[in-house]
Amino acid sequence: MRLILLGPPGAGKGTQAQRLVARHDIVQLSTGDMLREAVRNETPIGLKAKAVMDAGNLVSDEIVIGIISDRIDQPDCAKGFILDGFPRTVAQAEALDRILAEKGLKLDAVIELKVDQDKLVDRIIQRARETAARGEPVRKDDDPEVFKTRLEAFNRDTAVVAPYYAERGMLATIDGMKPIDEVTKAIADVLELA
Ligand code: AMP
Repeated sequence: MRLILLGPPGAGKGTQAQRLVARHDIVQLSTGDMLREAVRNETPIGLKAKAVMDAGNLVSDEIVIGIISDRIDQPDCAKGFILDGFPRTVAQAEALDRILAEKGLKLDAVIELKVDQDKLVDRIIQRARETAARGEPVRKDDDPEVFKTRLEAFNRDTAVVAPYYAERGMLATIDGMKPIDEVTKAIADVLELA
């Protein structure tokens, strides 16, 4: 199974992706996680991306498209994958179409988590608190000010990605403000139909 989870930062894509991984034996491809790893390892991509990510802006299409294209070729993606945080621009969505076509692969579903953006800052503050309470490092961009920039980037560049898939008859939209278990159930219902 191959699917995309769409939604603004803090919508719950990562949480739902982890549940889908456990349930369907597929892998989660989070470009944010991959970029953070590149930053930690100080790779050439990481060095380029760090300041952009810390400021809450989008890394270039070229970089993330390259990362995803290479990652999909790895053997652990053979059973399927969930794209979490990609595509974030129409150019990335178009590139993904090309990449999948070249590899002879198809998407099964594109699921959008619709959320009330006014509530997201509170969610992010809570996520940062919970992470700190677990003794784990808090993401630099999970800061209320940087989060505003991330939301602006979403509304400017990423909000148009859902209509891109809707025009192709591939989009399912789910209420992401519901409790986590209910969102999981709604996603399962969509996948059953897909
Ligand atoms: P995320 O973990 O998905 O919130 O991503 C964290 C940060 O990584 C974003 O704010 C961007 O700076 C960068 N990033 C992740 N995925 C992408 C993408 N598909 N396109 C551009 N930048 C990305």
